[in-house]
Amino acid sequence: QVETLKAKLLEQAQEISRLRSEQGGTDAEKHRDLLAAENERLRQEMKACEGELRELQRQQQAPCRDCPHLQENARLQEQLSQLQREAEETRAKLVELDLEVQQKTNRLAEVELRLKDSLAERAEEEERLSRRLRDSQETIASLKSQPQQIKYIIKTVEVESAKAKQALCETQSRNQYLLEQVGMQKQVLKEMEQQLQSSRKTEAQLRAQIMMYEAELERAHGQMLEEMQAMEEEKNHAIEEAFSRAQVEMKAVHENLAGVRTNLLTLQPALRTLTHDYNSLKRQVRDFPLLLQETLRSARAEISQAIEEVHSTNRELLRKYRRELQLRKKCHNELVRLKGNIRVFGRVRPITKEDGEGPEAANAVTFDADDDAVLYLLHKGKQVSFELDKVFPPQASQEEVGATSHTAGVKGGGSHLLLTLLCLPQVFQEVQALVTSCIDGYNVCIFAYGQTGAGKTYTMEGTAANPGINQRALQLLFSEVRGKAADWDYTITVSAAEIYNETLRDLLGKEPQEKLEIKLCPDGSGQLYVPGLTEFRVQSVEDINKVFEFGHIKRVTECTNLNEHSSRSHALLIVTIRGLDRSTGLRTTGKLNLVDLAGSERVGRSGAEGSRLREAQHINKSLSALGDVIYALRSRQGHVPFRNSKLTYLLQDSLSGDSKTLMMVQVSPAEKNTSETLCSLKFAERVRSVELGPVSRKAELGSWPSQEHLEVLKTLLVPFLFTSPTGRGHASPSPGQLSSRSASIRRKLHTSG
Ligand code: ADP
Ligand code: MG
Repeated sequence: QVETLKAKLLEQAQEISRLRSEQGGTDAEKHRDLLAAENERLRQEMKACEGELRELQRQQQAPCRDCPHLQENARLQEQLSQLQREAEETRAKLVELDLEVQQKTNRLAEVELRLKDSLAERAEEEERLSRRLRDSQETIASLKSQPQQIKYIIKTVEVESAKAKQALCETQSRNQYLLEQVGMQKQVLKEMEQQLQSSRKTEAQLRAQIMMYEAELERAHGQMLEEMQAMEEEKNHAIEEAFSRAQVEMKAVHENLAGVRTNLLTLQPALRTLTHDYNSLKRQVRDFPLLLQETLRSARAEISQAIEEVHSTNRELLRKYRRELQLRKKCHNELVRLKGNIRVFGRVRPITKEDGEGPEAANAVTFDADDDAVLYLLHKGKQVSFELDKVFPPQASQEEVGATSHTAGVKGGGSHLLLTLLCLPQVFQEVQALVTSCIDGYNVCIFAYGQTGAGKTYTMEGTAANPGINQRALQLLFSEVRGKAADWDYTITVSAAEIYNETLRDLLGKEPQEKLEIKLCPDGSGQLYVPGLTEFRVQSVEDINKVFEFGHIKRVTECTNLNEHSSRSHALLIVTIRGLDRSTGLRTTGKLNLVDLAGSERVGRSGAEGSRLREAQHINKSLSALGDVIYALRSRQGHVPFRNSKLTYLLQDSLSGDSKTLMMVQVSPAEKNTSETLCSLKFAERVRSVELGPVSRKAELGSWPSQEHLEVLKTLLVPFLFTSPTGRGHASPSPGQLSSRSASIRRKLHTSG
């Protein structure tokens, strides 16, 4: 047994050493070795990298300015930095691995410690076993010394010892197993305890919660009880109240019932009357449609009668309106006729810088304070007087006063206003009546006559800031047309022409050099027209301005010296106004001819030759033709020499018949111009004086107003024409009380008896 035990012991020792060697090769150790090897490899690699790095740095430091491998260098540097980064990473990895190795070593030490412990245990076990062995040997020795029986027992024991030993081993292993079981059970127990503890904790929490809930429940129960109590009380109270109320109501209902009963008794007769009323109403409703129809019929009849009456009144009014219109036109014509169909005005321009200084520029023209138709010219020391229809002094403005103001003063009988207005010398105001008569279908000519520089263009065209007759006339036309737009449709067209050396040219046409001809209308009306003359339709002042500008540009581009040229040609602006009365279908056509004549100065008869002489001859011819025509017209001669010049031929329609003509004779007041001024004024007087001639007087009388008109005029004007403030007849009126205009009219009335 001892031997076998020893052998077993040896075997176990061997087993232990084997186990130890085996343990030395555990996973951890293998891993450690592997890591150490990896570590070593990485170290090697790092060293190699560093070597490479050094090599590269050395290369970089080497001067290589002209090195052709700059790109290569950059690439290498890039690679270098890459490698450095890698080295850095590797280093970090290395540190990590070191740490891991450290951890592994620690674990290994732990395992070794545990191994030592188990070795010590094993030694103890051995000790114990050897002790038992000794005991057993001693027992064996003592037993050997005992008698035979004992030997037997020993033998039995020996035999049984193996069994015991086996049992021992089994017991040991069982013990081991049980121990393990106990360990496990302990572990389980520990866990169970922990669980128990946590459940206890939970239980405590739950208990606390339950308590809380119970308390809450208790409270709620109490509250509910209280509420129930209150509700019970309330209910009782409400029942009581309802009961008492019901009793009261019941009483009231009873009372009501009694009242209703009495009411019922009294209402019965009312019901009877109501029924009666209802029946009668029903009858009325039945009859109502008939009644309505009848009423409607009568109302309709009344309305249609009223409409008929309104219609007839309207017709009457329209008839009256037309009659009034006719009358107004007649009156207007009469008024213009009263003033003369051909009127001659004089306008004296102010002395200008161009007139120079000294005696040459002295003023030679004076006026009559009491008579606005007279002016005096100092010529060669003698004062010559001239009488025209009206004279505008230098201070006369271009401006316009409202078209009606003149006559409004007369109608209203406001003598002061009348006098004030008559005293104001405003050029356009005098022209207004002529312009408006164009709208009624009359032809009008306005001429500016005079020597060059006397103010013809100023009067006709004016300046941008102070426009002349042309602009103002068109503006007036537009405003008049607008005022009549309710009944009339008007179209206004404008043409501009020039007559130079007896040649007619279109100023608005595409071919200004083209000569235009004046022809008879092919329709047999005897009217004249100019084929090819451009007409622009104008609708606003802006349109006119555009037309004027266009004409101006044409004129400027066509001649080298505009001033010179314009003084040698007649400029015509022809405005045609066509109207249609929408209610009557009446059509009217009026023409307004605005003529800036060529300079009337006489060109030195001896000096002039060639084209200058031809120009002068043409101008002279056409101006004297104009004078002749006006003279013939004014003296009502049978033959009017229209064909003697292009100008008069072109304007034939606008000079003859019912047409109205205004001759604005422009003069310069300067001393140096007196002979030309004298000529112009003589021309003016010649044209105008016709009505005083013995032949024309008869004819003129025909054009004077009828006796009836004279009566009206007298009643209007006599109060401040023939009465003096003192009441003595024919006494000379105080200055300022008589306007120059009224003096002129008085003279006319005297002349005509
Ligand atoms: P015409 O056309 O007869 O040759 P203009 O109209 O050209 O003469 O006038 C000559 C000059 O006299 C211009 O400078 C003009 O401005 C000026 N003039 C003419 N009339 C007047 C006036 N009534 N008031 C102020 N200046 C005038
Ligand atoms: Mg001019």
